[in-house]
Amino acid sequence: MTSSPTQGVLYVVSAPSGAGKTSLVKALLKADPAIRLSISFTTRAPRPSETDGRDYLFVSRERFEVMLTEGEFLEHAEVYGNFYGTSKGSITRDLNAGRDLLLEIDWQGAEQVRQHFPQSASIFILPPSFNALRTRLAGRGQDSDEVIERRLAAAAHDVAHADAFDYIIVNDDFDHALLDLVAITRSVRLEAARQLYRHAALFDEFRRI
Ligand code: GDP
Ligand code: ADP
Ligand code: 5GP
Repeated sequence: MTSSPTQGVLYVVSAPSGAGKTSLVKALLKADPAIRLSISFTTRAPRPSETDGRDYLFVSRERFEVMLTEGEFLEHAEVYGNFYGTSKGSITRDLNAGRDLLLEIDWQGAEQVRQHFPQSASIFILPPSFNALRTRLAGRGQDSDEVIERRLAAAAHDVAHADAFDYIIVNDDFDHALLDLVAITRSVRLEAARQLYRHAALFDEFRRI
């Protein structure tokens, strides 16, 4: 998992729909402004609470297909009947400049990103139960019953891919899950290869003794 110590960390967060991924990621970014969120392109219609450019870049299916043919995506996937994709855009540039980036993508996208960036740190978020997932999706009040049923039907398949991730968090108590997420991001930053680079002057001092 250790990347070139000069590079930023690439975090990948996945979960079944409704597990609390977006809420946890928002809280993480508030607690740690050094992490940047990549905004995905999607063909899904915006939810009442969503803003273009902040939550997603909303595009038509035609536009998405053109972008795909032109090789503009680092990864893409069809999820719950819509297309989602991460633009190659500034990702490599940000990482090379030492900036930490977070992708909130599904397990298929996580698989593709792992191949490009084996050094990325991937985190899978589980709800405490299937019933809790149903309650949360309904309680969010942003999707139709049909959409909710479709997402619930996919949950078992989503969860079956958790074993490919580096870390797993159960989002039962929100604050506890947030502490877990913060702990993971902090520990990745403390990897020896990064610390050797970051504290080169300190190590030099001891070499000179
Ligand atoms: P929510 O996760 O329930 O809020 O539903 P969304 O409609 O926002 O996201 C649907 C799925 O698409 C989730 O699994 C997301 O993680 C995934 N997703 C969002 N953006 C991307 C992306 O850029 N690439 C990929 N591969 N998946 C994405
Ligand atoms: P996702 O992005 O994984 O689809 P959201 O972050 O939109 O999930 O969360 C789905 C719903 O569940 C939201 O209404 C959110 O406020 C709620 N939620 C998130 N985490 C918890 C938790 N630990 N306990 C109870 N409700 C939660
Ligand atoms: P929602 O439509 O509820 O916002 O997201 C549904 C699913 O799509 C979530 O699991 C979310 O993580 C995933 N998703 C969002 N953006 C992307 C993306 O850019 N790529 C991939 N592969 N999945 C995405």
